[in-house]
Amino acid sequence: MTSTVVTGIGELVTNDATLSVDSPLGLMVDAAVVVTDGTVSWVGPGSQAPAADQRIDLGGRSVVPGFVDSHSHLVFGGDRSVEFAARMAGQEYTGGGIATTVAATRAAGDEELLAHLRALIAEMRAQGTTTVEVKSGYGLNVEDEVRSLRIARQVTTETTFLGAHVVPPEFHDRREDYVRLVIGEMLTACAPHARWADVFCEPASAHAFDGDEARLILTAAATAGLELRVHGNQLSAGPGVQLAVELGAASVDHCTHLTEQDVAALAAAGSSLHLGADGTPAGRGTVATLLPGVEFSTRSPYPDARRLLAAGAVLALATDCNPGSCFSSSMPLMIALAVREMRLTPAEALWAATAGGALALRRTDIGRLTVGARADLTVIDAPSYLHLAYRPGVPLAKALTF
Ligand SMILES: [Zn+2]
Repeated sequence: MTSTVVTGIGELVTNDATLSVDSPLGLMVDAAVVVTDGTVSWVGPGSQAPAADQRIDLGGRSVVPGFVDSHSHLVFGGDRSVEFAARMAGQEYTGGGIATTVAATRAAGDEELLAHLRALIAEMRAQGTTTVEVKSGYGLNVEDEVRSLRIARQVTTETTFLGAHVVPPEFHDRREDYVRLVIGEMLTACAPHARWADVFCEPASAHAFDGDEARLILTAAATAGLELRVHGNQLSAGPGVQLAVELGAASVDHCTHLTEQDVAALAAAGSSLHLGADGTPAGRGTVATLLPGVEFSTRSPYPDARRLLAAGAVLALATDCNPGSCFSSSMPLMIALAVREMRLTPAEALWAATAGGALALRRTDIGRLTVGARADLTVIDAPSYLHLAYRPGVPLAKALTF
């Protein structure tokens, strides 16, 4: 057993809501944390910190739970910076550019894809992210979807089968055949390498899947033992949110265009997610995961986060890091955008980027710094977590390595 006491924490965010009635962040000042074999074994005032084998003094910096990035697409080849430039010059985003990445991913070798993935994971960790979900979805044939998931499994247990990302070009005039492939041979081959299944449900896009197709795919995936998540209501209002809630998905992601019924469904689905004293949710509801980096990078209107919060929905924040609609790996940037563009308070944004992300992945061992949680400590080189939104673009956050 190796223990480390981390002292000199000027402000500690525990996400233990029982510590304060005013904030779900469970703030402590002048705190210390003891880590034993990768798990938090003690949290309390610095003056009462017990002895340990090693000691790290943070000199008054703040510590937050490591960011949980519950939505990313990191296994891919190629580069779409030219498409980004065209979009900034006025071209509309439709999701069609995904085919470019599919071609580059199929052409890339395993080593190349893994090295690129590892570089992106290191980039995330250097910005405070300690858990990341990684989707397939740029293979779109049996062999390359399995390969993508095998590669993703080398860096995270949170792997998601996204064979239903878009209909690949070779199936454009026979969509039903592609859906049949996804729910048949592809699902069978991919399920052993994935925890989750996801569908890009977007009736307004010719590239993505409508409500009936998405229902078919998600139902088949659940039968194969996968848990569900959905890309829903990104480009227009559609059936994604309702479907995700109805099928018990852990999260529906984007939520940019919502009807009153969608908001009500997310509010009902969020009511079972309120955390007990031990950090465990009461039930298995659906989180609304917002991805403001996408709106930023595609110059699109942001989701109405305040409307969702007012209704009672539970929010998570994630990057959606991908080569097309948002090539940012930065959770601090997402927090800053959520505060500045979606009017979350800094506390709401940080909670969504940590505890909210953990709920979106149905994990109780991360997203908080309480006894028994994984020792994912992210140090903010500032006296308070408020600086994450207050100083956008400044590299203040870094995951602590023991
Ligand atoms: Zn995505």
